[in-house]
Amino acid sequence: MRYGIISDIHGNLPALESVLAALKSQKIDFYLCLGDVVGYGASPEECVMSVEQNAQVCLSGNHEWAVLNKLDTAVFNDDAREAVDWTRTRLSAQAKERIAQWPLTYKNDELMAVHGTLQNPEQFMYLMYTGQARDFFALMDRPICFVGHTHVPVVISESHGQVAALPSGEYEIDPQNRYIVNVGSVGQPRDGNPLPAFCVYDSQTKHVGIHRVAYDIAQAQRQIDEAGLPGFLSRRLALGQ
Ligand code: ZN
Repeated sequence: MRYGIISDIHGNLPALESVLAALKSQKIDFYLCLGDVVGYGASPEECVMSVEQNAQVCLSGNHEWAVLNKLDTAVFNDDAREAVDWTRTRLSAQAKERIAQWPLTYKNDELMAVHGTLQNPEQFMYLMYTGQARDFFALMDRPICFVGHTHVPVVISESHGQVAALPSGEYEIDPQNRYIVNVGSVGQPRDGNPLPAFCVYDSQTKHVGIHRVAYDIAQAQRQIDEAGLPGFLSRRLALGQ
């Protein structure tokens, strides 16, 4: 099975469309979205509908929970809270109904997936350090788990009890080891590279890769500015921060 895995689209339709176009040439059998389809960007409704149309499975992120009032936005920074409030007023009842169906975790015979961490997925914790990964690996009963949430792509491997963070790139999965793959962000990358990130995993060849693709950043920025959303949300897209 060839999986196309995306996360953290954050209402950035130009970025989502570029990523989906890039995945079209990858012979994907199964599209998996790890959540935060909305929030920050100007096109939450269009992104929800596109994901619903294209992805076999979409998980809930903290921004979906915030929009549905299942999460207290007191923990959000001012820009994020303003974007959540704006997004809530912009989404149709139909889109909110769809979002409300999205689960927190997914598992099949080959892989697992969660927006933040397998430990208490509803708390949306950030997996930032290899030390935290040990508790995460302890909850895995598949060789590979895909995550998003930090907007920073990275591959964390566990080999004979040793945990290591490998830079974003392409890897052959060693069936002896286990892996947590952070697929990065489609709509608001924060690793200093403004290009949308996405992941392709081939469970047959055991090849996993995190890829980047160009898109019209200026268009996404213009849409954010025209929507009256905070200026930093538009500026940061060009910085990849
Ligand atoms: Zn996010």
